[in-house]
Amino acid sequence: DVLEISATEIIKTLMLAGTMVSINQEIDFETAAIVSSELGFEVEAIKIEDVVSKILEEYDDEESVNEIPRPPVVTVMGHVDHGKTSLLDRIRKANVIAGEAGGITQHIGAYTVNISNHAITVIDTPGHEAFTAMRSRGAQITDIAVLVVAADDGVMPQTVEAINHAKAAGVPILVAINKIDKPGADPERVKQELTKYNLVVEEWGGETIAVNVSAKTGEGIESLLEMIIMMSEMEELKADPSREARGSVIEAQVKRGKGPVATLLVQQGTLHIGDSIISGTTYGKIRTMIDDKGKRLKKAGPSTPVEISGLSDIPVAGDDFIVLENEKEARQLVDKRKEMQKGERQRRSNISLDDLFSQIQDGNIQDVNIIIKADVQGSIEAIKQSLEKLDNDSVRINIIHGAVGAINETDVMLAATSNAIVIGFNVRPDKNALKLAESEEVDIRLYRVIYDAVDDIKKAMEGMLAPEF
Ligand code: GDP
Repeated sequence: DVLEISATEIIKTLMLAGTMVSINQEIDFETAAIVSSELGFEVEAIKIEDVVSKILEEYDDEESVNEIPRPPVVTVMGHVDHGKTSLLDRIRKANVIAGEAGGITQHIGAYTVNISNHAITVIDTPGHEAFTAMRSRGAQITDIAVLVVAADDGVMPQTVEAINHAKAAGVPILVAINKIDKPGADPERVKQELTKYNLVVEEWGGETIAVNVSAKTGEGIESLLEMIIMMSEMEELKADPSREARGSVIEAQVKRGKGPVATLLVQQGTLHIGDSIISGTTYGKIRTMIDDKGKRLKKAGPSTPVEISGLSDIPVAGDDFIVLENEKEARQLVDKRKEMQKGERQRRSNISLDDLFSQIQDGNIQDVNIIIKADVQGSIEAIKQSLEKLDNDSVRINIIHGAVGAINETDVMLAATSNAIVIGFNVRPDKNALKLAESEEVDIRLYRVIYDAVDDIKKAMEGMLAPEF
């Protein structure tokens, strides 16, 4: 509420308290509190995060009246050496129309291609690690995950990781069966293997679209892009370009002569030169803006990746950005955010077995997400089957990922992002995973007997888990 007291009265009170101020001067919180109590009011400190959330909420509440279809944003994932980087290069080239003016490729972290008058935005960093790292900061940017599987190698451990990371994010998967030019290529075998992960291709009665491609020869690339367009039309992706811009940071760095630059993906609205933005504890006024071909832009609409300069500092990839009234407001918000961070690092609390029961009781969770890492595939299956039997009316157990091998950083990242518990069976977390688990407060439980693992989860669900010492 606004105080219904005149400025002169406030100044008078301040002067009586020994503080000389002019009418336009800002006063700190303590001073404001003193004045207010003198005048018979109480003030509350408003948290900066609340201010930012409020701005975001207001943005969300505001109606998008001029929604139009927007280009899909795709990410390429898959096992190492299956051709992710080659495919990204090939897709980019598919777009280079002869004689395109000033078309010198700039690697800004994302690019746009055009296929039969439709644009597709491609995130240039391959792999699910980058995808989940972005997601752990709150960025939901990918509309379609292109899963690359080499036709001569088939489904491999990181293929499975990629599938599970995409599923955990609720992102639809399009399969690119790559390297079909190779003599040993067997696309049918790949399709067969994928059925194990509930990816059943259309020709076999499923809903998964798979396209045979060769990143080497270029075969199938056009159909792949056409399928992306088709899938995006089914998703009915829309945005309103008439609004103020909002989006995510794709990457950021300091460039010589330019200072901090960042690649922003506009997800809603239109970003203009001169807009004041805030992202995390960075702010600034957009000074320059270029696209992935190095072309200078004055504005950028939905799903457009642009590299911008004019920021005070390097923002963090995965953070969102919003446009504010003016630079002064942006700076004030950032200053307060920094102060707050100094005081206390805001933590998201992740689920642990110890508080599972109380969370269930409080109705906070209906789904218990679990990641299983084990020394052999057989154990994963056995644990999975036993755990899924624990499902009851109010709680469902989801095994969001299961794989053979030590618990690694990516597992912990996925757990943090999906609020999951990690179970290790005859395996241990590696050093980096342990460190990350500590900072992200992810619960990792290690077992040698399947019964113990299942029993612990069961007891935790019933609130009978013995405390850990
Ligand atoms: P990434 O690790 O998934 O990014 O895989 P790369 O794109 O680096 O490709 C790994 C290797 O496979 C490289 O030697 C590529 O030249 C090769 N490669 C990628 N795609 C194809 C393809 O379609 N056909 C053939 N024959 N080789 C390919």
